Amino acid sequence: MKIAVVGSGVVGLTTAIELQKEYRNANITIIADNFYKDTTSYVAAGIFRPGTSFSGPTEEITKKWVRDSYQHWDDIRKSSYSNLAGVCEVSGYILSSYSQSITRNFLIEDVLPAYRNATEEELKICPGNWKYGSFFTTLVTECGLYLPWATKNFLDRGGQIFNRKINDFADLHGTYDIIVNCTGLEAKNLCNDRKVVPIRGQVLKVHAPWIKMAYYGDYDTYIVPGFSGVTLGGCRNFESVDMTPNKYDFDSIKSRCEALVPSLQTAKVTEVKVGLRPHRDPVRVEYEFKDTSQGILKIIHNYGHGGYGVTTSPGTAKYAVKLVRDVWTGYSRL
Ligand SMILES: Cc1cc2nc3c(=O)[nH]c(=O)nc-3n(C[C@H](O)[C@H](O)[C@H](O)COP(=O)(O)OP(=O)(O)OC[C@H]3O[C@@H](n4cnc5c(N)ncnc54)[C@H](O)[C@@H]3O)c2cc1C
Repeated sequence: MKIAVVGSGVVGLTTAIELQKEYRNANITIIADNFYKDTTSYVAAGIFRPGTSFSGPTEEITKKWVRDSYQHWDDIRKSSYSNLAGVCEVSGYILSSYSQSITRNFLIEDVLPAYRNATEEELKICPGNWKYGSFFTTLVTECGLYLPWATKNFLDRGGQIFNRKINDFADLHGTYDIIVNCTGLEAKNLCNDRKVVPIRGQVLKVHAPWIKMAYYGDYDTYIVPGFSGVTLGGCRNFESVDMTPNKYDFDSIKSRCEALVPSLQTAKVTEVKVGLRPHRDPVRVEYEFKDTSQGILKIIHNYGHGGYGVTTSPGTAKYAVKLVRDVWTGYSRL
């Protein structure tokens, strides 16, 4: 079987490796026009905290994606290569002055090793009038490390990588038996899918090795420690495709994070990153038999993970592999 995975972000790489594990004799190729630092995946803080809006076709499937994903990252975290793959554990607080619902999360409360209400004492950890809070322990996957690690892993298992822009999946007809579409935001154009919406985000990387915990505050404020610094965020601009760092976002993120954790005032900013989250409700993981002038093309879509694609990619990858199996064995037909 010849499979082309289009896309080399976290979703494409993770799916390609899952396919290699399932089909040891298959010929699996990744085709992409952007790699590593030029992907949205590279921008992400990578904290495992899918928002409650993250959604698959049913709640049962969504929860399975989330559970499978956590298990996948936690297995890497417990391995001898966790530092190479960029996966570590972190604990933190979600604080809110407005509503308890913001601090709860039905998708992960029974998946993470710790998720509980913050005590009265803990609500005073950060300056501010915090009325509600949760303490949690979760995982961080840093794509600055994970993407190169996964690329090497894929190549070591016999995979091939081509740098090429696909303008139409039909161009791949005849060369590959199955196409797996992991093109993120670009699926909007490639599949003419109006449900895909860019949600612009900006983050600052700072050098602050004393920050060991994650913190979330109101107004989309977050502080996430990782391997190569601490990520400060954030913002969500719907339908914005402006990739230039914005001065007002910079000032707003910096001052909100410093208000939450004042010791950040002395932290040096090392990088400013902008990315467009590929939002879709629901995330599209399904098969399509596409009629082309050259015949039927079998496509498995896996895109639209929004602000949660780093951490949920293993769950949707495993689901996509199951769809490949269904299509290949003829279980799913025209
Ligand atoms: C500021 C910010 C913070 C975030 N924080 C988190 C977080 O803490 N946790 C989390 O889980 N997620 C987070 N995310 C979300 C996460 O980054 C995305 O959901 C994820 O990166 C999507 O991965 P992807 O592989 O689908 O897309 P991408 O990383 O964009 O990769 C798409 C790939 O497809 C290729 N491609 C596209 N079109 C074509 C074409 N026509 N021909 C050839 N190749 C093509 C590209 O070249 C690229 O290789 C954040 C995102 C942003 C912007």
